[in-house]
Amino acid sequence: MKLYSPTTINEIIKKYGIRPIKSLGQNFIIDKNIIDKIIEKSMIGKEDLVIEIGPGIGVLTAAVAEKAAKVIAIEIDENLIPILNETLSEYNNIEIINNDILKTNLEKVLEQNKEVNGQKIKRVKILGNLPYYITTPIIMKIMEDRVAVDSITVMMQKEVADRIVAEPGSKAYGALSVAVQYYCTVTHVANVSKEVFFPRPKVDSTVIRLDLRNEKHIQLNDEDAFFAVVKAGFGQRRKTLLNSLTGIYGLTKDEIGSIIKNAGIDPARRAETLQLQEFAALANMIRPKNN
Ligand code: SAM
Repeated sequence: MKLYSPTTINEIIKKYGIRPIKSLGQNFIIDKNIIDKIIEKSMIGKEDLVIEIGPGIGVLTAAVAEKAAKVIAIEIDENLIPILNETLSEYNNIEIINNDILKTNLEKVLEQNKEVNGQKIKRVKILGNLPYYITTPIIMKIMEDRVAVDSITVMMQKEVADRIVAEPGSKAYGALSVAVQYYCTVTHVANVSKEVFFPRPKVDSTVIRLDLRNEKHIQLNDEDAFFAVVKAGFGQRRKTLLNSLTGIYGLTKDEIGSIIKNAGIDPARRAETLQLQEFAALANMIRPKNN
């Protein structure tokens, strides 16, 4: 069954009496090239466990099942579960979980799937065509919960992908860029037009791949201080660092001014110009003063 064909989707919709639900971000892929691209860039092997976020009617799920040891597909919409049971019935390596990804204990899911059919799982990968209304919370949850995954290859709205891959000095560079780049190396995979979805969304999409860093590339005394500096800096991104960071941890303007200078940074710069290493240098100087 060609699940990516609009005819098939229409038949399924009719048969089950459903309609794509906008509030759940249901825009189904109708283009085989984009499915192939996501699968290729996920680099899935037979010893991999794959977690798919939001399988919809199973178009990506089926393609992943061909390559992986096992796929665990997490779908919030209970009306799609009987459809998935039908469209994916020929595969015996797919588990469908009817749950909200944001409420799913992924650590527990991984714990229960260390072995599949007596074979040890080597790597865990996450992929999906994300529901756009919760793209950022999903990415942040996986990273902040330190879920032991190797990579995340996901489609999202282009604007969010642009913010994730942004470099210092660009308009899109902000707290999200710093947070994701702190946890992962980021690769832009492809820009995707609105035309390849049914129903067609209002925005363009981008596929990116995030590889979780095994070793920290920046040294932090205190992660909380790092994120506090990033948040304060970008909270008032038009202001100089001296102004946006005044008050952080109760520090006066003079105190924070000396700290910024001691970190080797010009206090007249703005947060949007700082490299990750510079945020780290700043955070490492602020924290000891408060201990
Ligand atoms: N993977 C399918 C495809 O590419 O055709 C569907 C992708 S669609 C953009 C997003 C999917 O995520 C929908 O099936 C939607 O019901 C599901 N979804 C929305 N919110 C979710 C949540 N909080 N947890 C799990 N799945 C969710």
